[in-house]
Amino acid sequence: MATGISRTTLREWRGNPEKAQAARAYCPRCGDDPAPPEPRADYAYLLGLYLGDGCISVGGNPAKGVWRLRVICADAWPGLVEECVRAMRAIRPTSRVMLQQKQGCQEVSSYSRHWPCLFPQHGLGKKHLRRIELQEWQQTIVAEFAGEFVRGLFHSDGYRGMNRVRRVLADGEHWYEYPRYLFSNKSQDILGLCGAALDRLEVEWRFAGPDVISVAKREAVARLDAFVGPKY
Ligand SMILES: [Zn+2]
Repeated sequence: MATGISRTTLREWRGNPEKAQAARAYCPRCGDDPAPPEPRADYAYLLGLYLGDGCISVGGNPAKGVWRLRVICADAWPGLVEECVRAMRAIRPTSRVMLQQKQGCQEVSSYSRHWPCLFPQHGLGKKHLRRIELQEWQQTIVAEFAGEFVRGLFHSDGYRGMNRVRRVLADGEHWYEYPRYLFSNKSQDILGLCGAALDRLEVEWRFAGPDVISVAKREAVARLDAFVGPKY
């Protein structure tokens, strides 16, 4: 058949538009021969956003099996909203992306049956209270697109700002300012994933607190700028 869809299936779809909709929305993960989602660079970025500060919850009536992926983007950086919207659209082209203005931020969300297939880290409760482990296919993508992954993490849960340091020299007190990146997350697993990706990019980092990763050395900041860039 020209459509590649059997007559029986077509008949079934006509009788059940919702099933037809679900079947047409192709999912690379839940077919017989699972493949990595494409484009993989966008996936790596969206995975970073999701792990940093995103969540997946039941969208509407639980019986329909639709899930909602949400990422919160601060108003201060409208460019971040655009990138988030673009990445969600790229990964689920058949799902509409919605924006909702909240106090000081925009909530970017998209409904799909397949968010849990694409982000199997989804689970009950807060991310830092459960184990977060990447599946093998995700590890492969994150290894190949470590820059995009780190970019997503820092865009959602990170910060690039000026650090002021006081030095007392022979001629008195001096203040120096230099840029640094911070990534804070309550999940030790997610901090571990961030650290491993920074290692892969050869960006020097250290813990600045029990749940904060800091990139502060001049060369390391310059190197990370090439992957993350200042928020805009
Ligand atoms: Zn699926």
